[in-house]
Amino acid sequence: MTAPLDRSATWPYEDGQPGRFSYARADHPTGVAAEQRLGALDGGRALLFPSGMGAVTTVVLTMLPPGGTIALAAGAYYGHRQLLDHLAPWGITVVEFDQTGPPPAGADLVVLEAPSNPMLTMPDFVAAAAHRAPVVCDSTVASPLRVRPLEQGCEVVLHSATKVLAGHDDVLAGVVVVQEDALRERLHLTRRLTGMVASADTAWLLLRGLETLEVRLARQEATASELAARLTGHPTVEVVRYPGFSFLLSFDVADGEAAGRVERSLQTITNATSLGGTHSKLEARHRWEGDRIPSGLLRLSVGLEDVEALWTDLEQALAAA
Ligand code: PLP
Repeated sequence: MTAPLDRSATWPYEDGQPGRFSYARADHPTGVAAEQRLGALDGGRALLFPSGMGAVTTVVLTMLPPGGTIALAAGAYYGHRQLLDHLAPWGITVVEFDQTGPPPAGADLVVLEAPSNPMLTMPDFVAAAAHRAPVVCDSTVASPLRVRPLEQGCEVVLHSATKVLAGHDDVLAGVVVVQEDALRERLHLTRRLTGMVASADTAWLLLRGLETLEVRLARQEATASELAARLTGHPTVEVVRYPGFSFLLSFDVADGEAAGRVERSLQTITNATSLGGTHSKLEARHRWEGDRIPSGLLRLSVGLEDVEALWTDLEQALAAA
């Protein structure tokens, strides 16, 4: 019923020649089992990585020409911007753009996020697909059960599988899915040569998480949409962002001080980073992202707890704001 967990780093040759599996930095059976499942979900061929950032790094190193320009969705996961700024000495230029419209002309690679974390805008896939450059979509927050970017004209979809795909906050993982065999081969070569390979344990935990993805997401989404509606009417809350699906929402209180008071008042919801897991988590994002987002922005990742228990906690924490 479950995929075998094979922790081997090397396998015997067959008749004096390497067989399908010879050395785990290239491929290993548990990783391939996870890749088959992930590829089917997104409608392409998957590659597994030890983190979402490992997946992004591999895509950038493989697909961006030296000295190239990346058009990056504004309000998207701040780690992408940090990574690209870190790679600036290699001549990489980043241009942020409003992904609800067309990407800037002149970009060599377009990176969308569906929906962006934490601003929760959705990309204009039609406008992006009309751009001459390959389009990559980080679909971590949507999951393949809600958005399938490869069917919307994107060349690459990637996920931080650390989030809702694995779903239990006990593993770091990333995935890239593409349709073109030649592109998958180039990405696979970068992965093998850089050694950005997920372990068999990572793949096994991810496979186990995927077993319950559909039911977890359905419950988290139902709760998130109810909480978004109630927060919208709350007198202390200035703005609520919720794309109408998914487990993630963000909302603003007056300022950073008020956001800190809400964080410290939580009882049921954990004051911690990350998203997509079974336990609800809330945090002020300004501490990480600075002035690119409002100082009072709180990001809530809704877990599997009872909706009334979560609302009671939010109400009492907001009373401290
Ligand atoms: N993409 C999104 C939308 C994320 O939220 C994150 C992490 O928070 C990442 C990518 C990076 O993934 P990881 O932490 O697995 O490296």
